[in-house]
Amino acid sequence: MNLKHEILLIEDERNICNFIMTTLRTQDYKVTFASNARSGLSLAASGCPDLILLDLGLPDMDGLDVIRSIREWSNVPIIVISARTQEQEKVEALDAGADDYITKPFGTSELMARIRTALRRSNINGSAPVPVENRYEAGNLVIDYEKHLVTVNGTIIHFTQIEYKILTFLARNAGKVITYDTLIAHVWGPFADSNNRILRVNMANIRRKMEQNPADPQYIFTEIGIGYRMIDNENLNLQ
Ligand code: CA
Repeated sequence: MNLKHEILLIEDERNICNFIMTTLRTQDYKVTFASNARSGLSLAASGCPDLILLDLGLPDMDGLDVIRSIREWSNVPIIVISARTQEQEKVEALDAGADDYITKPFGTSELMARIRTALRRSNINGSAPVPVENRYEAGNLVIDYEKHLVTVNGTIIHFTQIEYKILTFLARNAGKVITYDTLIAHVWGPFADSNNRILRVNMANIRRKMEQNPADPQYIFTEIGIGYRMIDNENLNLQ
């Protein structure tokens, strides 16, 4: 069961390309690459990669259109590489169907963690029947979905129904950024007010109850202007 995962890299900056390809090959991934959107799309279709790393700033096409185009026919995980720091663009990429993003400059361990998470999530959601996990565990935090029980260091923490819904949605998507709008739609329904004030109030309560220091959270991180990311237990040591 030691099949090599194949990663398609679509990136026009030569030095970033070399850095990523060397890193991935050292980690035993198979890598193909394209330096523009058009050849990237054609390789995505012909090569059936397990994951796509996509630069948003390509010479021939808007990266967001590349994501939309791939999503018309494939659920392959897409991690966006963004040099720009505008939050709006990251939100748009996630809404267009990207699974995650990484902002330049980034380090090897961050890149590898993002890739592992995305690959694992795609295996979970893939066609192979995988049992639904009935618990989430990270550090001292345990969520037992069946019993509706959350404990930190063995102590039971009581949450309101809304807080529990927020917490478990993030936990079931651990490692992945969930945008404010996605979370609001999940908890309050698709027609809820997209103003995230109530969400922020609930998040403050969740953190006060379960984080040792709510101002420096260990379990739920804020991606400013974008959403929240719950810690992925396999990548605990990278935060
Ligand atoms: Ca570029």
